[in-house]
Formats: sequence, C-alpha cells, structure tokens
Amino acid sequence: MTGPTPSTVSGNLGLRLEEPLIFEQGDPAKTGVDLPEPGDRPDRLGGLARSGPIGLPGLSEPEVVRHYTRLSQKNYAIDSGFYPLGSCTMKHNPRLNERMARLPGFADLHPFQPQGTVQGALAVMGALSDWLLGLTGMRAVALSPAAGAHGELCGMQAIRAALDARGEGDRRVVLVPESAHGTNPATAALCGFKVRGVPGDARGRVDLDAFLAALDDGVAAVMITNPNTCGLFETEIIALSQAVHDAGAFVYMDGANFNAIVGRVRVADLGADAMHINIHKTFSTPHGGGGPGAGPTVLSAALAPFAPLPHVVAEGEGEGDDGGWRLVEHAEGDMRPFGRMKGFHGQFGVLVRALSYMMSMGKDGLRQASGDAVLNANYLLASLGDGLTPSFEGPCMHEALFDDRFLKGTGVSTLDFAKALIDEGFHPMTMYFPLVVHGAMLMEPTETESKASLDAFCETVLALAEKARAGETAVFTEAPRHTPRRRLDETRAARQPVLRWAPPASARAAE
Ligand SMILES: *Cc1c(COP(=O)(O)O)cnc(C)c1O
Repeated sequence: MTGPTPSTVSGNLGLRLEEPLIFEQGDPAKTGVDLPEPGDRPDRLGGLARSGPIGLPGLSEPEVVRHYTRLSQKNYAIDSGFYPLGSCTMKHNPRLNERMARLPGFADLHPFQPQGTVQGALAVMGALSDWLLGLTGMRAVALSPAAGAHGELCGMQAIRAALDARGEGDRRVVLVPESAHGTNPATAALCGFKVRGVPGDARGRVDLDAFLAALDDGVAAVMITNPNTCGLFETEIIALSQAVHDAGAFVYMDGANFNAIVGRVRVADLGADAMHINIHKTFSTPHGGGGPGAGPTVLSAALAPFAPLPHVVAEGEGEGDDGGWRLVEHAEGDMRPFGRMKGFHGQFGVLVRALSYMMSMGKDGLRQASGDAVLNANYLLASLGDGLTPSFEGPCMHEALFDDRFLKGTGVSTLDFAKALIDEGFHPMTMYFPLVVHGAMLMEPTETESKASLDAFCETVLALAEKARAGETAVFTEAPRHTPRRRLDETRAARQPVLRWAPPASARAAE
C-alpha cells in the first residue's frame, strides 16, 4: 500500500514539497558561469577532451541549498524527537563532544604525520584506553575496530590466535545463546567457526543446564550478549564463564548494551575474555544511517598478547604526559598480534567524542547515567505493563521488551502498531527483534529522556492499544497516513535495490 497522496493543486502537502531527484531538476542551459572563449591555444588534452555535457543539474545556489535542506528535514533523528529504538541506544549527543572533535588540532591531522607532531592525539588515545580499561577491568584494548560488529571480529580473531598458539586450532564450535545479538553468530561464522545455538529459559536468560550440556572440548568460545537482547542481565554469567574456562574455552561478551552497566559492573569480574564497546552508543556519538562509529575491544590477560596493532603506549616511567606517547606499529617483546583491523588508527573523531563525553560526565556521572537509563526503561515497562504484554516477569535493564499477545484477535500486527506510532509523531520501537518472542516490540528510552517525554509516549502507546482492542483496525492497517510516503514494498526494496541514478534513455540518446 503506497496509498494515494491526498490531492493538492501543486502535489505538495503543507510545507512538504514533492520533488524529483536533483539530477532531474533544472536546465543546464539556464545556469552556469560565463567564461570568456578560450583564445587560440594549442589543444594539449591528447584527444581526451569531453565530448558530451558534464551531467550536472542546472540549478542555482539557492535552489541547491533548498533541495538539500529539505532532504535533511526528511530525516528523523534523535535531535528531532524521541527515538526509542531498542538495542540502538539513541541518546542525546552533547554538542561539546562535536566541538572537541572539530578542534583543528584533531580534525586536521594526517595519519602520516610524524609522531612527535601528534602527541596530543596519541594522548587522547592513551587516555581513552585508560578509561575503557578502568571501566571494564580488562588488560588490553584495541581502539581500531570501526563498529560493534567489527569489534566482535577483533575479539574472535584474538581468541582464534590464542587457540592456535596453544595448538588447539581444532576447537571449531562457538556457542551462541538465542538471546544473543544477530551479529554474534554472523561473526562466529565469518571467522570460520561452527555456530551451536543454546536455548533460553522461561526467564529470558540462557538456560544454564542446556548450556552446560552443549559445552565440550570442541568448543572454542561462547558469544554472549549481556545485558542480552531481551534487555535482561544474564544472572548466571559468572557460573557460565567459570564453566567455559574450565572447558578450556573463551568468553566473548557482546558489550553493545554497556550503557546499562557502566560504572556498576566490571566485565573482567564476570569472567569475560573479550568484549567490544559500541562507543557510538554508550559514549554518545551520533550514529545510525551508516555514520561512523567505533567498537574498541577490551581483552583479558589471556588474550592481551594477541591484540591487533597499533596501540598507544606511554614512554618512560611514571605518568604518560611527561615521557610522551608512542604508537606501537610492530610486534615487540612477547606480543603476538593477530594483525590489524583497519588502516591507521581507527575512527579517530569518534574516539575524541567518547573521551570528551567521559571526561565531562566523570566516573560518577557515567555511573548515574547507567542507573538513569535502567530507571527510565523500568518506568516504561511499569507504565505500559497493564496495556501491553511484557515478555518476561520482573524488572529489566536498559530496554523493555513486549510481545504481541495484547494484539491477539484484533487484526493488528506489530508492524501496523509501529506504523500508527509514526502517525502520532513517534519513531517506532524496534520490531520483531529479538526473535525469541512473538511480534517483539523492544523499547529503549535511554537516560536522556525526561519524564514528560516518556509520559507523552506511554499515553500514546496505551491509547493506541485501547483503539486496537476497541476494533479501530483502520487506524493501524492504513497507517502511516501523514508521511510523505506510506508503506513501501520493503521486500522489493531489499531484493531489487536501486542504488544508482541513471539518466533517462532519451537523455542518453541525445549525448
Ligand atoms: C548494535 C549492536 C551490535 C552491532 O554494533 P554495530 O556498531 O552496529 O556494528 C552488536 N550487538 C548488539 C547487542 C548491539 O546492540
């Protein structure tokens, strides 16, 4: 259902303009720069002179500015409104972080500059490493992974290198609980491991008995998301880690949900050997839409020797600032790096933003933020609990999980419900994920939402649930009604994506 656009004379709706792509607008003959004819000069282009038009749209500067400004306004963002997308930690990104990342001393560096000229940048990397190691209690950190999933690759490569070094390269199995994030089994498979699933229990956590039964001497590692994708803390994590270590395997903990536990739990104490941290989520870098993130990966003492290059070390004795900083680009001493994750030093601007956030919050502020994130999620869970159907009993961590039992017999699906929320001015929650419950709705409010914004959201959700129960099905099945486009053919968009604009055949023929 793409739906008819309500008709206006112009085709525009309110102040929302309908327009073609920029390449389809304007007329090249109408705009341009008047340059004098070139004089009588010899042609030195060697036959490479352009024969056709350059193919730029024929628009004036104000027309171009307006076009892109309009496009930017079609993009819903955390800066536009509430964004309760579960698993994504869409929280406010303080502008201070942006200012720090744009300081010319950071923004205008070249990765080939001599180290003596970039001591401040290396100090940022050193300080961020210290913060991450302090918050997790781990031994080493690789700052270079470019995202969470890339950090998983880093941790699993370190595990693989450690097993190979022990002559146990024949351990091929990675255990993945069903409440793990989808990137976990994907990473294990990418690294050449065989994935063995482990069921959850009625509490939404790993079934420890099933886990222990699946653990044998062919197991290389477990990849466990904690808090898991149901928004619940894995309460048996210490017993689980212990059993994994006793079996000679490693614990990879997916730390993308770190925002729920920062400053409260040190992952080293939970027995983790490797964990990535989505600093774009937890430490506030604008993300989504493919923007740059970073997934620094912390490693235990057992994996530290295998950490990828490069990393930053403080020179000399005592405090780093006195002796300067050095980038280790080649293995030294007993290091056995498995390789590199990325060109140069990773997403440096994102690292600057994270350190800026950490330093402005302070240790106590970070601890309060994780507490407030959990409090806000539990406020949603409690406020919506009677109208919706929470999937598991008891309090949650940073996100609240509901399923579609409350929609049973109404003819309204989770998808319809999400579309109706758009009409009401709210970005929908995460839908149909995690897969462990039917018609999942996963809501993550984060700590930066006020009680007023949570109340406004809850009121709307409860009123919509009431409409669904009252049989007002059209409110849902016809939604969204107030968006520039209505329901898209998402399957076709995924299967036959049009990623490139091509000039119409008539224009090509004219060239
Ligand atoms: C977001 C997320 C990931 C993947 O992180 P990216 O930065 O998107 O690659 C992995 N695990 C969990 C639990 C996540 O929420």
